[in-house]
Amino acid sequence: MTLEELDKKYVLQTYSRDYTNFVKGQGATLYDENGKDYIDFASGIAVNSVGHNHPKLVEAICNQAKNIIHISNLQVIEPQAKLAQKMVELSGYDMGVFFANSGAEANEGAIKLARKYGGTKFENKRYKVITLEHSFHGRTITTVKATGQESFHTPNFSPYPEGFSYEKSIDDVYKAIDDETVAVLIELVQGEGGVQPFEKEEIQKLAAHLKEKGILLIVDEVQTGVYRTGEFLASNLYGIEPDIITLAKGLGGGVPIGAVMTKHKDVLVAGDHGSTFGGNYLSTAAGLAVLEILSEYYESGAVGEALLYFEEKLQDIAKRHPNLFEKEVGIGLMRGLRAKSADIQVAVIKGAMKEGLVILKAGRNTVRFLPSITITKEEMDEGFKRLESALGKVEA
Ligand SMILES: *Cc1c(COP(=O)(O)O)cnc(C)c1O
Repeated sequence: MTLEELDKKYVLQTYSRDYTNFVKGQGATLYDENGKDYIDFASGIAVNSVGHNHPKLVEAICNQAKNIIHISNLQVIEPQAKLAQKMVELSGYDMGVFFANSGAEANEGAIKLARKYGGTKFENKRYKVITLEHSFHGRTITTVKATGQESFHTPNFSPYPEGFSYEKSIDDVYKAIDDETVAVLIELVQGEGGVQPFEKEEIQKLAAHLKEKGILLIVDEVQTGVYRTGEFLASNLYGIEPDIITLAKGLGGGVPIGAVMTKHKDVLVAGDHGSTFGGNYLSTAAGLAVLEILSEYYESGAVGEALLYFEEKLQDIAKRHPNLFEKEVGIGLMRGLRAKSADIQVAVIKGAMKEGLVILKAGRNTVRFLPSITITKEEMDEGFKRLESALGKVEA
């Protein structure tokens, strides 16, 4: 059996897959079984934040595996405590951390925290959570319901939990708030929805309004977090202090991890929430290595340089192909080209793959770029050269 046949026979077909068989990665370069190289502008959907085979991350994982991979959360776990400290210090907020294994789980934890807050801090129970259209918050029944895209709420998975609504714009959020609203859950730059950033001023205004009303602001930083937008958190970039922040994708550099950060440290108590795997030795040792690598990189000015260079190159591409793209969108190393049609979007992604460049889709017509934070100028140059050549063929 070929690998494709094996996959199709034994793995549930929940993804429309590409069948390139990658066997090795180095930095922002991937190699398939035939030795062909690909520039990786996707990072496994914003996961490989320090690229592939980063020596410090590999060393941290190997050393940890040789000692302890996992014990239960009924014991104290040293790298977990140290990672929480590092996250809080880098954020600049006075917060505590709960560890889970994925973005959806982190958002579930955030919603549980908010619901308990809403049930214990007010006379009437507040439980409603407002989200935004085009948002994405995960694939569990609850986070699918929180996701502001009607296509996700198929009757196949109903009934869904109550208390979620989504609004077209930030302005509509104000009108949707009632005395049962406990939280507003937003991404500062919508990722899956099409790489769409919100305006700093409107977010700051919303944050101030929610604070005044005693409503929690939950920022889903599963994709925007861990230097993706140029700062440790997009919340830092936007100059706000959310009540709850969720993280996942880039935090473990490829090892599954999710996290809830909150300044409401006393709401969840022993027995309220938990996870068998969450925050275990292996994932938190990886997270700690990732943050050590990236915080140093940030301090050196290299993150700022990389994102400026990437943005310039991408804007140049958008300008040179006005027949394919409407505009260039995004912040930091979370960027997109808004294609003029869904057909163009698909053709560009497929064409790029043939040229040896991995890129992603987002929303209905956006081509998405999520390179590793540590990508080099040479890798960017090579990636854009391949993109240019793919675009030439799409146009022909
Ligand atoms: C990817 C993503 C999620 C879901 O994360 P999983 O790890 O797939 O559960 C949630 N929110 C945002 C903003 C994401 O980009």
